[in-house]
Amino acid sequence: MIPFRETYRDIPLYSPAKKPCRVDLSDNTNLFGAPPSADRVLREEGFLRLARYPAGYAPDLKRAVATYAGVSVENVTTGCGSDDVIDCALRAFLEPGDAVAFPDPTFVMVPMYARLSALKPVPVPLRADHDLDVNGLLATGAKLIYVCTPNNPTGTVASRAAVERLVDSAPGVVLIDQAYVEFTRGGDFLDLARTRPNVLVTRTMSKAFGLAGLRVGWGVGAPSLVAEVEKARGPYKHTALGEAVAVAALTDDVPWMEACAAEAVENRERLRGALKALGLEPLPSEGNFLLVPVPDAPRVGEALRERNVNVRVFEGLTGVGDALRIGCGPWPMMASALKALKEVL
Ligand code: PMP
Repeated sequence: MIPFRETYRDIPLYSPAKKPCRVDLSDNTNLFGAPPSADRVLREEGFLRLARYPAGYAPDLKRAVATYAGVSVENVTTGCGSDDVIDCALRAFLEPGDAVAFPDPTFVMVPMYARLSALKPVPVPLRADHDLDVNGLLATGAKLIYVCTPNNPTGTVASRAAVERLVDSAPGVVLIDQAYVEFTRGGDFLDLARTRPNVLVTRTMSKAFGLAGLRVGWGVGAPSLVAEVEKARGPYKHTALGEAVAVAALTDDVPWMEACAAEAVENRERLRGALKALGLEPLPSEGNFLLVPVPDAPRVGEALRERNVNVRVFEGLTGVGDALRIGCGPWPMMASALKALKEVL
């Protein structure tokens, strides 16, 4: 018998099952595609970068993030997607057996990463108004509290008052996942990451920036906090190509990204209206997706896939029940989803 790790025995492999569909609205990526600079960097520099290791700890990427985010390089850590930054932060700040508190529902990888590091996931239901239950989160005593705003999968946002009270009273680190912040009106917490000693904000190149295939994410916090995450991270988390493309996107493609995000938001609201006309009640969203409560979501999701439309299915979400999460992008894709939904419901 090979002595496998006991605590891993009951942990399932997380596999976002994907049947290829012509219209894939299941992963909240930028449905307009990848940024224009990526094509240039890959053609002009791609081959040249392959034979040698990238520079350790991604100094070029950190400089580009620092400029973009208006912070200094010492405030920045980066990782293989923002889920890697989250995973590194859990390992950096907690000992095995410690609790990680987070709102429920939220990003499914958080309890998963907690268990993989022998931490105790402690879900705290979101309030009925979709804001954070600050007292409930604090009552867990967790040394790391994760919050996500806009939240995946609900799309709802945490109020600034709630986040500030959490940060003021938390016994340890507050990790604020802002993977979808580019789609919000305000709602950006980088100022807290700059000024508070216990806040780490994570962001990603996977969503609004259209680079999910690259696996590049970043975090901003006080230098002392960032230094701990860097220990957990190790030197080589990016490919040299990924780093070069992400640097170009942050430097040259911000207007492109903003235009895509604005159109995704406009189409999200148009889709909301059309779904309401079908008698559905999407949650108020500030992400590039809508969560739509639908009875028997697995059946509906399968029927949509048969019509070549893939959306993310959730069963029994706390406070919501069964639901579909529909990514928003170019209107023709939304129209395909609507047409298929009308046939299925
Ligand atoms: N946070 C949230 C809330 C997400 O929805 C996702 C992707 N689904 C991530 C983090 C991770 O994204 P990535 O690792 O691609 O940066």
